[in-house]
Amino acid sequence: MDKPDILSQVRQKLLDYLRMNSLRSTPERLVLLETVYSTDAPFSAEDLSDQMQKSRMRISRATVYNNLGLFESAGLVRKVFVNDQVLFERTDRSKGTIRMICGSCGKTVEVNDERLRRQIGEMRTRRFTMTGWSLNVYGMCSKCTTSLKRKQNKLKNK
Ligand SMILES: [Zn+2]
Repeated sequence: MDKPDILSQVRQKLLDYLRMNSLRSTPERLVLLETVYSTDAPFSAEDLSDQMQKSRMRISRATVYNNLGLFESAGLVRKVFVNDQVLFERTDRSKGTIRMICGSCGKTVEVNDERLRRQIGEMRTRRFTMTGWSLNVYGMCSKCTTSLKRKQNKLKNK
């Protein structure tokens, strides 16, 4: 599916949600949603807020935070936990994400493991309907492992 299609779909989903909950549709809300859906990478509320401060609409921090909560309730974004940070990502990905995160430098690499993906996708849970998933695998990247070994060797040789 190409971009304009996704955008009009999520816009409609937001409008439906607002109507169902007797909330107003404001230009700020639509601009925020478009901004969220213009990027593929997970982002923090702060990042989005900074970006909106610089935009021509100058959407306040409080509005950004409130609307992220609203988008989450509407199923348009979901929280992901990367290191100790809470990030948000779009929910239109049919596939889940597997990330390997270095606990030392924070480097994050997305991995593609079809077998694991399939297994999670086929997972059946009682009283729960899966809408998506994200898996974080923690460890240490090769660069940090090498540098740690070097430091340990230095200590040994002292
Ligand atoms: Zn590292």
